[in-house]
Amino acid sequence: MSQNLFTSLSRHFPALAKTCIERPGGGRLTYGDLIAESAQLAHVLRHKGVQPGDRVAVQVEKSVEAILLYLATIRLGAIFLPLNTAYTAAELDYFIGDAEPVMVVCDPRRAGEIGALTAKHGTKQLETMAADGSGSLTTSMRQVTAKEFIDAANGPDDIAAILYTSGTTGRSKGAMLSHDNLFSNAATLKDYWRFSGDDVLLHALPIFHTHGLFVATNVILAAGASMIFLPRFDADEIMRLMPRATTLMGVPTFYVRLLQHPGLNRQATRHMRLFISGSAPLLSETHHQFQARTGHAILERYGMTETNMNTSNPYDGERIAGTVGFPLPGIEIRVTEPETGRLIGRDEIGMLEIKGPNVFKGYWRNPEKTKAEFRADGFFITGDLGKIDARGYVHIIGRGKDLIISGGYNVYPKEVETEIDLLPGVVESAVIGVPHADFGEAVVAVVVLEKGAQMSAATVSSALATRLAKYKQPKHIAFLEDLPRNTMGKVQKNILRDSYKDLFR
Ligand code: ATP
Ligand code: MG
Repeated sequence: MSQNLFTSLSRHFPALAKTCIERPGGGRLTYGDLIAESAQLAHVLRHKGVQPGDRVAVQVEKSVEAILLYLATIRLGAIFLPLNTAYTAAELDYFIGDAEPVMVVCDPRRAGEIGALTAKHGTKQLETMAADGSGSLTTSMRQVTAKEFIDAANGPDDIAAILYTSGTTGRSKGAMLSHDNLFSNAATLKDYWRFSGDDVLLHALPIFHTHGLFVATNVILAAGASMIFLPRFDADEIMRLMPRATTLMGVPTFYVRLLQHPGLNRQATRHMRLFISGSAPLLSETHHQFQARTGHAILERYGMTETNMNTSNPYDGERIAGTVGFPLPGIEIRVTEPETGRLIGRDEIGMLEIKGPNVFKGYWRNPEKTKAEFRADGFFITGDLGKIDARGYVHIIGRGKDLIISGGYNVYPKEVETEIDLLPGVVESAVIGVPHADFGEAVVAVVVLEKGAQMSAATVSSALATRLAKYKQPKHIAFLEDLPRNTMGKVQKNILRDSYKDLFR
């Protein structure tokens, strides 16, 4: 049955006095506060002219009040549209023009430049919210006496949020997610990962992305659990708070950094029941080192902005490093030949396609792109290449757009990266294709070494010579101190491709 996301979540809310969000500097928001203040804020939005179906675009620092704003927008039946805090005015110009919000909420420090954009695009309301939650919206909120709000009734296709994708492979696309998309995934994950009212999540992710906003926040609300809200990831803070928490959701970089912390051991993680990773591939090495140090097998899962979460390693069964586990209950995954959509067999690499209640309603104002990414029978073409092994575990091989075709042969970057990463002294690597007159594309490897490690390109080449077919071997090997990554920890291969594009020209 379709229903307002907030109404569905609130069915599971615990006693009103229970802590929902703990502020790191002290203070907390109870479930009672969450209900009352999101109602007050929904009244403010309505009073300011926001109606069901309108977009509320929000570019603010992470705060408890930003979560209230998310919930208030949902309760009103309007569409929540969070924007990456790193976006510049030029980027915001595109998003505001594309989304046509009736309200833009921004950091007070940026009200001048963003005000110029809202004036240009004819946005009716510009409001502010600072990192401490203060600003024009919360000032208005405190003046509202009504602490109840009747949540908008929704149809099955009504949109709760538009989330722009991370822009790893090109311009970000606005994915339209319905109330049902979001609630079904939250309910599934809560059960799959055994979240209960006893859980305390360390929340250190940004909340403009599906991981921190939907996976983390909605699961906590669906379970009636609590979260400790950190403005950003800080290994010392995580270590300090771990004895009071039960779970952590992170991108792979969180785990890499925790491993660099001298205090990470069994004792320090004794109170934790679950560590979850996603948004980018977790290196097997990281998984194994973490397990050796703490006894915990990190649970890796796979999802995307357009679909929420699709697969997860099991809670009870074996969590296999380098895999993203099984399709979640109610979600179908198949592997196809990318060009034709023909189904292919077990253990063969192809395009991952998804169908289920989690799959979005299309790209905002882009029906052509929406059409192009769906098969006639309703499966969404993810753009990710992968395979399903004999035991049913899904493996992500990489993005279709990163596939290298050299001399007519397919080269999967991950295969080459895995070999390079095995060499002693290598931290990680990224393998890309760059234009080459003879081969079409040439394989180029970018390698990050451990501090103080010495290695030449010739050493890497000779190590790979006996391990990989000639056409897979890099024609150029470069060394960098770090790989370029976006805020979600994703390696930006487009930046690397751009840096090395003239290598063979
Ligand atoms: P864009 O679509 O704009 O290029 P993006 O795909 O990076 O950006 P997101 O929706 O944030 O934007 O990321 C989803 C993608 O992240 C997936 O399609 C997949 O490639 C990758 N991903 C997510 N989880 C994992 C994982 N556990 N292992 C490997 N890749 C993952
Ligand atoms: Mg994508």
